[in-house]
Amino acid sequence: MKIALIAHDKKKQELLEIAKNYKDILSEHELFATGTTGTLIMGETKLDIFRYKSGPEGGDQQIGAMLANGELDLIIFLRDPLTAQPHEPDVSALLRLCDVQKIPLATNASSARIMLEALKNNMF
Ligand code: PGA
Repeated sequence: MKIALIAHDKKKQELLEIAKNYKDILSEHELFATGTTGTLIMGETKLDIFRYKSGPEGGDQQIGAMLANGELDLIIFLRDPLTAQPHEPDVSALLRLCDVQKIPLATNASSARIMLEALKNNMF
């Protein structure tokens, strides 16, 4: 499956912990990420991740393009609901496209863990 990983700055450590905990299952899939998130996770876990631009520089839109083309199967996007994002329109567009394409989307750590447990148990 093709999986995208994205986290806003204050959520990056949470996503990193999740990536470490689920490294074995994630390593069996094709991974994509926005720039800073991908660099952090790759550096700490050695997972192989294709990195797009940083989110505020268009990375969310690049992942959105994958979605629009039907090229993604699952997205973990840990959003920071308490901090205004300069690229909020890009964030909203990405979330909207997930719903348009009916792609599973986890926007917080709890739902991300449930999603990865489901992936581990071949429920997708
Ligand atoms: P980043 O982008 O991984 O480059 O920080 C994430 C985002 O803010 O959308």
